[in-house]
Amino acid sequence: MKIVELLKTKLKKYDDTHNFTCDVCGREVFANERICKICFPLLPWNRVVCPFCGRKVGEEGVCLDCKERRIAVDLARSLFVHEGEAARLVVRFKRGEKYLFRTFAEYLAPCLEKNFPDADAVTFVPMTERAEKERGYNQSRLLAEAVAERSGRTFLAPAVKRRETAAQKFLSRAEREENLKGCFRVEDKKSVAGRRIVIIDDTLTTGATAGELCAVLRKAKAEKVYLLTITSVPKKHPFGIPDAEAEE
Ligand SMILES: [Zn+2]
Ligand SMILES: [Zn+2]
Repeated sequence: MKIVELLKTKLKKYDDTHNFTCDVCGREVFANERICKICFPLLPWNRVVCPFCGRKVGEEGVCLDCKERRIAVDLARSLFVHEGEAARLVVRFKRGEKYLFRTFAEYLAPCLEKNFPDADAVTFVPMTERAEKERGYNQSRLLAEAVAERSGRTFLAPAVKRRETAAQKFLSRAEREENLKGCFRVEDKKSVAGRRIVIIDDTLTTGATAGELCAVLRKAKAEKVYLLTITSVPKKHPFGIPDAEAEE
């Protein structure tokens, strides 16, 4: 028990200090730098994207997914294409390297400002209590709190996840939507009404999760619902995920 407590304080200490090494390659970095100057430009930053969902497209225009049916949120944007080092960072973040939320928030906050300047609140995708206990944290909530603070927006936690949903890895967009139906509930409707809210999450795959949360926020009279993620999966794919590492 004592060792566990000791580890916890050590980890907390680590959380509270600045980076000394690059989050990608481990090279030493200067104070306040989180990703070194060599790794930074090599990351798969999103450049030419679909105007609606923000996924990478080959040439300017609407992506195949949105041509079929537009993404449910008003607008979505993401920092990176879900591949290579960016995908690995997200997986590390979800598998215990909690401290990475600071690095992501640093880049997500200006991305919010640029793409959703009229947004006035930030929220996250809720997890069930059990799932959160298992992971030890809700990665989406960590990001949302940090982005709200950095961008001077109100942090909202109006929704809960009512039941566990089956793993989504191998489900199609339609199957995911069915799987998620009714899983979120807005408990604090007052905080949502009339707001322009940004949902912050780690990865946009099919958009089904954000779509379901968006639906309940709109029902609670949110004026606009945006989605901001670290990565997005670019191409239409039978499972929505070309990378076996991606989840949900
Ligand atoms: Zn580096
Ligand atoms: Zn699109």
